[in-house]
Formats: sequence, C-alpha cells, structure tokens
Amino acid sequence: MTDKAISRRFFGAAAAGLAALGITGAAAKPAAPKAIPTGKPFILTTWDFGPGANAVGWPMLASGASAIDAVEAAINHVELLGDYWVGAGGVPNEVGETTLDAMIMWGPTHDLGAVGCLKRVKKAISVARAVMEKTQHSLIVGDDATRFAARMGFTETSLTSVVSQQAWDKWAAKGEKTDAFDPEPIRKGDQLVGHDTVGSIALDAAGNLCVGCSTNGREFKIPGRVGDSPIAGAGAYVDQAVGGAVATGNGDVMMRFLPTYHAVELMRGGMAPQAAAEAAIKRIEDAGYSIGGGIAVIRRDGVHGGAKTGWEDTPFSYSVQTAAGNVKTPVS
Ligand code: ASP
Repeated sequence: MTDKAISRRFFGAAAAGLAALGITGAAAKPAAPKAIPTGKPFILTTWDFGPGANAVGWPMLASGASAIDAVEAAINHVELLGDYWVGAGGVPNEVGETTLDAMIMWGPTHDLGAVGCLKRVKKAISVARAVMEKTQHSLIVGDDATRFAARMGFTETSLTSVVSQQAWDKWAAKGEKTDAFDPEPIRKGDQLVGHDTVGSIALDAAGNLCVGCSTNGREFKIPGRVGDSPIAGAGAYVDQAVGGAVATGNGDVMMRFLPTYHAVELMRGGMAPQAAAEAAIKRIEDAGYSIGGGIAVIRRDGVHGGAKTGWEDTPFSYSVQTAAGNVKTPVS
C-alpha cells in the first residue's frame, strides 16, 4: 500500500469514527472559503531583493497569474541569485553544508507547505509548494525532505559554492565552536552572526493572497537547526480576509513570538499595518530580547508597514510593486 493510500485509509477511518460521534467536517482540506472581494494586485518582497524579485512576480500578476505562482517565481529568482544569505551557495552550517528552510501559505484555503533543513535541492520554495499541493502534510525536514523532493522530480545537487566553502574554511581555521552553543549572545544582540530571509506577499487579480519565504538560515548553525522561516506564524503568515506578513532576523528567538501571526491578528482586530508591525516587534523587545529582526506586513487593500529591532546599521527594507510601479520602503 502506498503512503498516500495508508494516509487516506487513516483519515477515512478517523473521519468515520468522528462521524459516528456526530462530529463532521474532519476532511483534510476545508470547504471553499467565503467569497472575498477582489482587490488591486500587489507584490511585496523584503530586503534589497525586493525590486528584482517584484520585477519577476509583478508581470505575472499583471497578466492574471495566481498569487502563488508569482510568489514562487519571485522567491525562486532570489534563491538562484547566488546571494550569500538566501538559497544555494551561501551560509554554511557548522560542518560546512548549506541547508535551506522555506514556506509557502495560500490564503484561500489556509493551506501550508514547508521544508526545514532541506539539503542538496536549490528551489526550496518550490519543494515547499510540492509539500502543500501533493501531500496532506505541512512540514517535511532534513534528508527526508531531500528524498521527498527527489520523488517530486527535483534535481539533487551540491549547495556548496566557492563563497560558502571559503567562508567555512576561514571560520573553521579559527578553531572556534559555533556561537550557537552559547545561549548568551542571543540575549545580548546578534551582531556576531548575519541574517537574511527573502519574504514575499502577493495579491492576485482574483483577490487571492499568498505568502512565502526562503532562507539558508544562520551562519555556522548546528547541523539540523531549523529557523523560523518554515514555521507558520513565525516566518510568514497569511489570512485571506485580512492580509499577510513576513519576517526576517534571528529566527531562533523570533519563532518564540510568532510575529507574523501576531501582526495579522492585530490587523484583523482593526489595527493599521504599520502599528501592527511595530506591536509585533515590540512584543519581542518587551520580553527582554535584544536581537536583530524585522517584519513587513500588508493588508489586502494594499496598505503596508514595517518594523525592526536592533539592526541600527542594517538597512532593512521592503518593496511593494503595484500597477503604479515599485516603491522601496526603508524600515526605521
Ligand atoms: N530568520 C532566518 C533564520 O533565523 C534568518 C534571517 O532572516 O536572517 O533562519
């Protein structure tokens, strides 16, 4: 029996049991959401990747493509740039290997696909999409994520580059253990380690929202470490009726506060996007953490905002492209 058949049998039996108890609606996917008014399409992407990624995603949205296709294409563009902080060829872990975390979340159904510690496959966001569309699962990790990707037809290849090898050689020559073994630097600020995650949020002409994010995580991380990016409500979150949010920064801490979920829920309660972004970040600061981190949020009507903590000298920004053009907004 195939995995899927076993799974169907399990869910079928579970549903039958619940039905016997008078509990219905146990299907893996929800019924179609209530009709949502269409909006004016946009795509938001974080960091300096914004203009280039939006230039890939926007023409798709403008010609009627789905928000999920635009988000995937925009993030694939960044994953394949050869940037140090996102995708293949950057940020080695403690043993010199680059591993990837990514998530995609689809507004209309609240469906989610994610991969953590993905090895030897470049397009992490596309593997995340395969998790969402081809399975009943939400998150697959490590070598098993690689095996899943191979089953889905993705090519296995080394994620090491000259740059990532040199970075690791230089660090290893110092003979230091990764600072990730020392819990203290996290509370004192994370100047010692670099960060970047690309996050995108799109609204398509049909009125559907999608969010996604992708990263190679934290430099010299302990093998097996998974950050905030593939965790729903941490790295990214979307609610079809409200809007979306994406995060970047010290994921080891940020995932403890679910800042993207927090911001979207504040917007649901009526708070403006800028205030919601600031409140989600302030929550982390109020708990006593001094880290580098940022969040960008956008309501489904296109009103957006951003906030950051730490990173006094780090120019975090996000870009929003609409029919009126691309606007890059520095976050202060
Ligand atoms: N949030 C990512 C992580 O901790 C890295 C980053 O955005 O800088 O894995």
